[in-house]
This record gives sequence, structure tokens and C-alpha cells, in this order.
Amino acid sequence: QNESTVSITVVGASGDLAKKKIFPALFALYYEGCLPKHFTIFGYARSKMTDAELRNMVSKTLTCRIDKRENCDEKMDEFLKRCFYHSGQYDSDGNFQELDKKLKEHEGGRVSNRLFYLSIPPNIFIDAVRCASTSASSGNGWNRVIVEKPFGRDSESSAALTRSLKQFLEEDQIFRIDHYLGKELVENLSVLRFSNLIFEPLWSRQYIRNVQFIFSEDFGTEGRGGYFDNYGIIRDIMQNHLLQILALFAMETPVSLDAEDIRNEKVKVLRSMRPLQLEDVIIGQYKSHTKGGVTYPAYVDDKTVPKGSLTPTFAAAALFIDNARWDGVPFLMKAGKALHKKGAEIRVQFRHVPGNLYNKSIGTDLDRATNELVIRVQPDEAIYLKINNKVPGLGMRLDRSNLNLHYAARYSKEIPDAYERLLLDAIEGERRLFIRSDELDAAWALFTPVLKEIEEKKIIPEYYPYGSRGPVGAHYLAARYNVKWGDLGIEQ
Ligand code: NAP
Repeated sequence: QNESTVSITVVGASGDLAKKKIFPALFALYYEGCLPKHFTIFGYARSKMTDAELRNMVSKTLTCRIDKRENCDEKMDEFLKRCFYHSGQYDSDGNFQELDKKLKEHEGGRVSNRLFYLSIPPNIFIDAVRCASTSASSGNGWNRVIVEKPFGRDSESSAALTRSLKQFLEEDQIFRIDHYLGKELVENLSVLRFSNLIFEPLWSRQYIRNVQFIFSEDFGTEGRGGYFDNYGIIRDIMQNHLLQILALFAMETPVSLDAEDIRNEKVKVLRSMRPLQLEDVIIGQYKSHTKGGVTYPAYVDDKTVPKGSLTPTFAAAALFIDNARWDGVPFLMKAGKALHKKGAEIRVQFRHVPGNLYNKSIGTDLDRATNELVIRVQPDEAIYLKINNKVPGLGMRLDRSNLNLHYAARYSKEIPDAYERLLLDAIEGERRLFIRSDELDAAWALFTPVLKEIEEKKIIPEYYPYGSRGPVGAHYLAARYNVKWGDLGIEQ
């Protein structure tokens, strides 16, 4: 492998995502010794910058993990020396040819592999892909492109994007990133299910009463509502991140851990899902709220949001998978901004114990007595199982306790950021955690009709105060299916 080199071009290097996530993740990979011996990183954007200015910009966001502070500055310097910048337009073949020339100089005649990370707004994806593939692709190694969401805003625009990308790229060159798939606890879902005897036999309608996927942010759009307003929370979080987790959660055992085997199973789940009905969706939008003398703004107070916008900043949905394993089990999703807590969790509520001998000791709230498995994806990663336990003493009183796997206590290692795993996978050609086009089609097919109905009927979102638990409609929706939402992250 010493004969080959990898050139990583971050297209849109002057932007927020590049600074916040991509360069820090590349540095972490470098520090961990995961990048190949010969590599070069290029930033590409229209902004005028010298190499030194790019390095200066990047250096401000690099950090070393707590357990790896030794040689940190030295490593940063080494890394920054391998970062360069080229300024150009996204639709200029000439500018990409200049980039190609610079890349070749750095590659020094070795077999050249090229990764382009498109960290730019979606309306310029195709121009950039066209120019990169016609004017800056390698002739003797692989060429791959990482694409960030949004992958369209409905079935039609997503299919059009895929068609355009495929004019220049094969499917196996396209790495559609969903950073939730790179999160440690999402990756662990399959390990939990398929390498422990005790979970998989319970993983069906026979024992599981409902499953909840909850995403909550405790801040609003805060001046970045321009992008969001065109998409809304259903497209921004549910159709991709939460649905991807659901597919992994619910899939059948794949033939192997190969990317195609796993994605085949995920797509089957998505295609078995019942079309989502408007009555199974509730939408909300945050309004201004004053608390402790501080006034928090409404979504529509954000200057980047059009006046009178009906875009949902909160949504809850009840979904069903019409297959033998999951028939009738409600899969509930809830996602919102400007709520009282932040976090992302998967909650699995099990059925009641039939003819439970201990009902008397449990009390009247039988719902509280059922087992629940909670997978806390972020923050403060944990997996815990709520069980009934005898309170020590002479009487027979039961309480609810947790069998608790708290990552910070169990593992002293800092957990790598999702972007590190995904970038490394893209460099290594591992496609397991990237989204295949048929998965994307199935995901849009599920949400597009309901999204259109919400927009065509101009459904008014239920307004909820900034910093609250969200609209009460979410509770009515859950109650219709006999479900109570779990409370995010309260139990240790
Ligand atoms: P950004 O800062 O708005 O844009 C990245 C760069 O693209 C800018 O620095 C700018 O560079 C160029 N650009 C911006 N608007 C343009 C326009 N209208 N025409 C041509 N070039 C333009 O975006 P970002 O937040 O870094 O996100 C990049 C991509 O990742 C987007 O597709 C976004 O949806 C996605 N994403 C972002 C996040 C996040 O946390 N920020 C999370 C998930 C997904 P120059 O002016 O120098 O050319």
C-alpha cells in the first residue's frame, strides 16, 4: 500500500461543517494512526485563502482526546503541514483542473485515490460532482464522493439528484452520509442484538409492546433557520436519522456483516412499512417563552425564517412495519427543537408479565412495572434495562431498578465522533454505514405523501413554548396506541 496515496478534498472547506466536524475528524484519524502513510488534504471553496490561512482556520478547531494529550501540538503541526487550499468556483472545469494539477504534484506519481467530501449546499452538488469527475478524478486509483444530507426534499427531487449523480458516478462511488449511523450506540445496536442470546428472542411483536425513537434539542434555529425552514424537522431528522436507526433496529439477521447484506435487510424493513397517514403525525412549532426573566424567541422571530412560516420544528409520528415480526407494534418517533432537554434515545417497552405473581407488590401502575430497555445514543451514552427488583428487607416490596451500562463509568476511552468512523470507512471503501439509493427511495416513499399533504393543506403546527416538553398532541398520538412516552434521560 506504500505505493498508493489518498487525496482528500473538502469541497466547501470555508464552511461550518468543514470547520466543526470534517477537519477535526481527519486530525483525530491522523493522530490515531488511521490515515494511510501517504495522504494529502485539500480545502476547496470560492473564498480566497492561502494555505497558511486555511491552516490557521483549521487549527482553531482541532483538539486531542483527554487520554492523548501527549505530543498534541507536535501532531497538530505535522497534520496541518499536510493540509492545503485551492480557491475556485464549484462549476469551473478550469478551477478543478488546477486542483488536479496540485493533487498530482502531491501524489508524486503514486497510485492516486481520491475522496471528495461535498460540504456545500445541495443546489451546487451536481456542478461540483461534474467538475470533480471530469477534471479532477484519478485515472489509476479509486474516486469516491461523500455527500451530505439533504438528499432531496421528497421522492422526486431525491430521485432526480440520484439520477444526476449517476451521470458522473457509479453507485459504489457515492457515499451518502447519515452521521447517526456513525454513532457508537447505533453501531452497537447490531452487536447487542446479534451477539447476545438474551435480546434477539425477545425482539418481536410477541414481547415488545412499542419502540420509541426520540430526538430532542434544547435550542432553536438561532439565526440558522434559512436552511431549516425549507426542510422542517421531519425531513431534517425523522426521514433520515431516526428512520435509519429504526431500520437497523427492526431488520432481520443479515447473511453477514457485509455492507450489501446489511443494507438488503434494512431496505426490506423500509419497504414493509405501512404508508404513513396524516392522522398518525402531529407537528409543532416553538413559540416565545419567558422564564426566569429571560425571554426565549419564537421560531418565527429568527430573522432568517420567513414571516408566518408553518414549518414544523417538532413532529411525532406513529409508524408500523407490516411484516411477520412487527405486525401491530407501534414504532413511535418524536423529534423537536427548543425543548426542555437535549438527547437521542431508543426506548423499547416490553409487554406485561402474564399472570404476574407480584402484581400486588407492584401496586396499581402496571405500566410502570414492565421492562424497558433504553439505549441512550447521546449525550452520556448508556444502555440500561429497567427491571423489577425486591427492595431489601423483610417485607415484599418491589421497586424499579436499572441494570446499567454507563459508558463513561465502564470505558475510560473517549468515544470517537461519528464523522471519524464514517470518514475512515469511506477511505477504506466500507459502505455498511452509508445509505444506498434504494434505501433512500424507500425512506422518501414513506414520508413524501404525508409531507405533501401537510404542505398542501397548510396544516397549522401546534405551538409549544420554547424550552417545554413539546406539544401535548404528541401525548394524544401515543395514547391512541396505548403508549406513554419515556422521559428522556432521567434515570441513571
Ligand atoms: P455552509 O457553511 O452554508 O456552506 C459551506 C460552503 O459552501 C460555504 O463556506 C461557501 O463557501 C459555500 N457556499 C455557501 N452557500 C453557497 C451558495 N449559495 N453557492 C455557492 N457556494 C456556497 O454549509 P455547512 O453548514 O458547512 O454544511 C455543508 C453541507 O453539509 C450542507 O449540505 C449541509 O446541509 C450539510 N450539513 C451540515 C451540518 C452542519 O452541522 N453544519 C450538518 C449536517 C449536514 P465559499 O463561499 O467559500 O465558496
